Amino acid sequence: MMWRKKRRPSAPLPEEQTGWDEDSGLLYDSSAEDESSLLYSSLAEDEPVPPAGRRRRAKNRCAARRKGAAILTGLAVLLLLLGFFAVRRLVSGTPVSPAVAGALEAEENAASNSSGDSQTGSSGSSYSSGGSQEGSSGSSNSSGDSQTGESDASSSPGGSQTEEKALATLDDATGDLTVRYLDVGQGMAALIECGGHYMAIDGGGRASSSKFVAVLKACGVEKLDYIIVSHYDDDHLAGLIGALHVFPTDLVLAPDYEADTAIYRSYKEMLTEEDVPERVPSPGDIYPFGTAAFQIVGPGTWSAELENDRSIMVLLTNGTHRFLFPGDAETAEEADVLAGGLSLKADVLSSPHHGSKTSNTNAFLDAVSPQIAIVSAGADNKYHHPHPSVLRRYEKRGIQVYRTDESGTITVISQEGELTVSTEK
Ligand SMILES: [Zn+2]
Repeated sequence: MMWRKKRRPSAPLPEEQTGWDEDSGLLYDSSAEDESSLLYSSLAEDEPVPPAGRRRRAKNRCAARRKGAAILTGLAVLLLLLGFFAVRRLVSGTPVSPAVAGALEAEENAASNSSGDSQTGSSGSSYSSGGSQEGSSGSSNSSGDSQTGESDASSSPGGSQTEEKALATLDDATGDLTVRYLDVGQGMAALIECGGHYMAIDGGGRASSSKFVAVLKACGVEKLDYIIVSHYDDDHLAGLIGALHVFPTDLVLAPDYEADTAIYRSYKEMLTEEDVPERVPSPGDIYPFGTAAFQIVGPGTWSAELENDRSIMVLLTNGTHRFLFPGDAETAEEADVLAGGLSLKADVLSSPHHGSKTSNTNAFLDAVSPQIAIVSAGADNKYHHPHPSVLRRYEKRGIQVYRTDESGTITVISQEGELTVSTEK
């Protein structure tokens, strides 16, 4: 390398081969042929031209400068590379794929045509995958004996879903997935569709229970692979009772406690009447759903003091996209699932407990690290959900917030590596 040659004091370069160019102010090296000396010259450009009497000293320091220049060159290349990846990430985070927008439009048109459910005038935006999803390795699995919902196989209960298969499904999920966060006023309900399979997580309260069933019908639901009851509060459970009556349901996942309410008793009666199997899931359980899959990540205990803290927490995975449904989990359950060690990382977070300040702890939000938060709340609700302090926590983290009280039903589509969000109004 050139700078090594220059280090030998016994063999100084002839004056004409190195020195300051009076015209350009650049240090030149006529013997230099490699790229590093060119970079050195350009780096020297910003340096002041030393006065004539100091030229020799400058020349003697040449070797040291060249060594420094080599280090600077390395640093410059490193910075360029870092800059390149930063720009790439920014670009990939920018929305809007025409293909996805078109597909979304087609889907919405179909929905509004078939239902009259006001899916018009929606606005949409898309998100690229965070691309940094953690694997589900290390999680236990007991997906059990009667799971259905494999994409290319019609429901085939009877022990065919092995642990291995469920995990493979989780990793290889590549189909389209649509999650509708339904506007059920003050309550929570989500309808999820993947490859012609449907599941509901909660069904909203009494006031919207007939709307819930109507929306499911309008969306083409004839059968539900799963119903997940996050917990037994009216604003989550009531709408599910009608759905259980109307739609054949393969399996209900429900929390392990009893509630002393009329709604709870109606729910239990309906399970018996319709002969629907009910199961209490455990953290780590993975269930296949179409080409997607979901994992139970909480609660870690059924004996939490608050019923909200016994909410079944579900992490739905489709390819690299993840959706977290924490129900009405509050501070205690958030801490509990964090301690459980399962990955909570998700692109879309259903805001815990309707955006309550007794949920949404900083530690939990940091672990989930979503791009999008969906708040399911009624307009002017008496609980003041979502709480302004929670909205500030979201804003601080750059989380895009959608609210059912403002935007109506919010639809998120996971398709070909992109997330697209559209709103009813
Ligand atoms: Zn609730």
